Amino acid sequence: MTEEFLPFARPCISEEAIAEVVACIRSGWITTGPRVARFEQMLSEYHGGRHALALSSATAGLQLALLALDLKDGDEVITTALTFVATLNTIMLAGGKPVLVDIDETLNIDVSKIEAAITPRTRAIMPVHFTGLSVDLDAIYALAKKHKLRVVEDCAQAIGTEYKGKRLGSFGDIQVMSFHPNKNMTTGEGGAVITDDADVIKRIERLRFHGIDRDAFNRFAKTGSQEYDVVLPGYKYNMMDMQAALGIHQLPALQGFIEARTKLAERYLELLKGWPGLDLPQLPTYANRHSWHLFTVRLTDAAGMTRDTFLAKMKEHNIGIGLHYQASHTFSFYRDTFGWQPNDFPKALRAGERICSLPLFPTLTEQEQVRVVKSMKQVLG
Ligand SMILES: *Cc1c(COP(=O)(O)O)cnc(C)c1O
Repeated sequence: MTEEFLPFARPCISEEAIAEVVACIRSGWITTGPRVARFEQMLSEYHGGRHALALSSATAGLQLALLALDLKDGDEVITTALTFVATLNTIMLAGGKPVLVDIDETLNIDVSKIEAAITPRTRAIMPVHFTGLSVDLDAIYALAKKHKLRVVEDCAQAIGTEYKGKRLGSFGDIQVMSFHPNKNMTTGEGGAVITDDADVIKRIERLRFHGIDRDAFNRFAKTGSQEYDVVLPGYKYNMMDMQAALGIHQLPALQGFIEARTKLAERYLELLKGWPGLDLPQLPTYANRHSWHLFTVRLTDAAGMTRDTFLAKMKEHNIGIGLHYQASHTFSFYRDTFGWQPNDFPKALRAGERICSLPLFPTLTEQEQVRVVKSMKQVLG
């Protein structure tokens, strides 16, 4: 195989963004400061003027958003059985108990099954907009209103996604974005919480920086005061200016990234249509704009091989296929802690065994995409 290894994801970073990072380093101010402030302002504008808090990761954001809700021991948070483990881990780290609901054909949480999972201990619903496809939020917010629950949307894969003509993060309760390098835009590592709840904003501002009620930039800048108070034992989850330097160039490019991803996804749908060995992504009936963070196919019985064999064979063709994700309830910690059985969430189990993410990133060329499809044809026969 002479062709170069093709990864399933690759960040797309402009020369301007690189120059901004260099300028940040040369400026003498590399941690949280003016570039983070500017990035937060841009994120706020992007989400309809709602408040944006930049953080070290989406995992930090999910944890702090849940901590801000002040969960009591035994409080339950409902989420999907098919997600990245950070979703469940952060529920536990914030003192809650994850309650899982199975998925539907779109791979998102089956909203028709959420109400049956609600108990007197339920405090929040944490939907995940999996692969960049919006969950049916009207149904979720109707349930939240009826049962007086908070909603923390895991938008780690879904910045720029739209639901019924509205951008995620521009409405609703609390949203958490990720800027990990594999995501649709990146700051290296990074994340943000979007909300307009003043109490949640105040709590997260304290929790993200040592429980101090005033950020470092104010303390150390010429105009700031050196005095501060510690109001609770906080974390160290602030974003650095070096990271925000990337973000302030990535956010204006996001629209173009999503358009490029959409073109590629449409071509995959066309090229792979009717293959007996594959189930292609299913779209919901409600209006939405997919941001195509992932293009996931599922192997069918007709593929005649396991997913792991398929991944290994594609690797022989120098093509990286992602695995997003094994069903959450099958990991040993969760299985052992909650006694979950494989068939408790049969659709997530089956999807988790058969799911594969094909290479998809804005600079993937048509030629590279054809190469992926050709290799898949050889491997699947
Ligand atoms: C990536 C991801 C996260 C975590 O994001 P980080 O920024 O890496 O912490 C959480 N949830 C989902 C669904 C993700 O895809």
